[in-house]
Amino acid sequence: MATTAPIPPWPQAGRDYPNNWLEFQDWFRTDDDCLAYLERLRWGSGFQCPKCGCFDGRYRRERAGVRRCLECWNRVSVASGTVFHRSHLPMRIWFGACWQLATEKGGVSAQGLQRALGIGAYSTAWLMLHKLRRAMIATSGELSGEVEVDETYFGGRKAGTGGRGAAGKAIVAIAVEHRKTGLGRIRMEVVEDASAKSLTRFVLENTADGSKILTDAWRGYARLDQYREHEMVSVSGSGGPAHASLPGVHRVAALLKRWVLGTHQGGISMEQLDWYLAQFVFRFNRRKSSSRGLLFLRLLECAVATPPQPQATITAHHGFNSARSATGMAP
Ligand SMILES: [Zn+2]
Repeated sequence: MATTAPIPPWPQAGRDYPNNWLEFQDWFRTDDDCLAYLERLRWGSGFQCPKCGCFDGRYRRERAGVRRCLECWNRVSVASGTVFHRSHLPMRIWFGACWQLATEKGGVSAQGLQRALGIGAYSTAWLMLHKLRRAMIATSGELSGEVEVDETYFGGRKAGTGGRGAAGKAIVAIAVEHRKTGLGRIRMEVVEDASAKSLTRFVLENTADGSKILTDAWRGYARLDQYREHEMVSVSGSGGPAHASLPGVHRVAALLKRWVLGTHQGGISMEQLDWYLAQFVFRFNRRKSSSRGLLFLRLLECAVATPPQPQATITAHHGFNSARSATGMAP
């Protein structure tokens, strides 16, 4: 890796991102290599000091990843204000995790990551995954325009569609954009239940103001009318198969299930399901980026663009998963 030029909109393999695992190892031998690459990602087209806000400000590079603003004398770390904020982990570990996540087709669990990167504590790997998961999901922007929303059910060794609220199953809310050219971006999340509270929150967090939501007639969606333009399409009855009215979510749910079953032979834990969803969404929303190295670059871009995710917020937000992780136990 020789250049410090900004990453162009259409990055080139071998110049802007490593082609493969061998090149990855060659590019990122040390923490300094990683920090220099982050500098290129973040400040390649101009250094901006977060304190005085000077754009394209003058700076002095104190060491890899650390610059001193010459306007206000503020010292800025390249990791500050990103997902890597205040992490004590070596940047090489973070980069390794990003490579694994972006390129591993079968998905990665905290335990798998712990083993692959030689991380001491399970909880450390778990927290890294959750920070990166948030970066993976959050940075594709809220969905807009016409958006189909529905839930699908995962549970036990068999993924299937039980009745709503089926005991012991995980409920995954899915939102899919309609675009003239076909399906747009998607969002997915394990929700606590199929209640109006859970589903309304999911829709509000994942769709932009002004979008139009299409759902079936489930009462969990009835409150949406208060916040969004909302159309309940008729699914039940003799009007044809269920997938005819919400084709987008049903296609995405089928792809998801095929992928999960295909890569994991059925049985997955709830924590893994979360991970599968994050990775599925990330890949689906970037399905035109075919190269592994490019997916790695995209994930790093997400991580740099996502604000710090404090541990307390993650564990508080995370319901049943956090309870399990707090004990440091593997699922
Ligand atoms: Zn400054």
